[in-house]
Amino acid sequence: KPLVIAIDGYSSCGKSTTAKAVAAALHYAYVDTGAMYRGVTLYLLEAGIAFDDMAAIEQALHDIHISFKRHRTTGRNELCLNGKIREDDIRQMRISNLVSEVSGIPMVRHAMVAQQQRMGRKRGVVMDGRDIGTTVFPDAEVKVFMTAEVEIRARRRQEELAAKGEHVELVDIIENLRKRDYLDSTRTESPLRRAADAVLLDTTHITISEQVDFVLDRASS
Ligand code: C5P
Repeated sequence: KPLVIAIDGYSSCGKSTTAKAVAAALHYAYVDTGAMYRGVTLYLLEAGIAFDDMAAIEQALHDIHISFKRHRTTGRNELCLNGKIREDDIRQMRISNLVSEVSGIPMVRHAMVAQQQRMGRKRGVVMDGRDIGTTVFPDAEVKVFMTAEVEIRARRRQEELAAKGEHVELVDIIENLRKRDYLDSTRTESPLRRAADAVLLDTTHITISEQVDFVLDRASS
């Protein structure tokens, strides 16, 4: 029976790497919910909409159309904002530095959660984010909550950004991860927290394939 697999946790713990590999192994769909909040952030920035202008944000949420498109050769899921692939733009530090402000806006969350629930209605999906096991799919069959030491997370993020030609100091990445984790766990609307029935996975000292096997074991038991 196809399942919903919810992977939540702190920023840059390897959630999306793990989720993608699990989805590929099970032939499930993969939904990167963080990309959706990043897409909204990019839209508001480009439209010049202030993050406290609720009327403009309400209108923007009607105008924003987010989808994912599979890349023809790499097979990776790329974020489309109003029909245009914006995958590289949403990964930049300027978006990482602002996304937690935008994702804390209740109206934004309601719109994204509703879309995510529609995307997962047909089971057989791996979804990664911050509130999947608590809010989006509280009845998910498999729930994993990932953590890792912040220095390790920052180094991994630094390598990812460097591979895309963006060179960021480690201290700046650590500051960004700490700030996002803080904002994400203290917001009023569906804050980042481990669901009571989520299993904890600390990735500080384990490899990606061990993370993937851990989730696959849970899915098959
Ligand atoms: O997963 P990623 O690090 O790309 O997520 C970017 C940001 O989007 C998070 O720091 C958080 O503010 C927000 N987010 C969220 N709820 C989710 C997924 C992401 O609030 N389910």
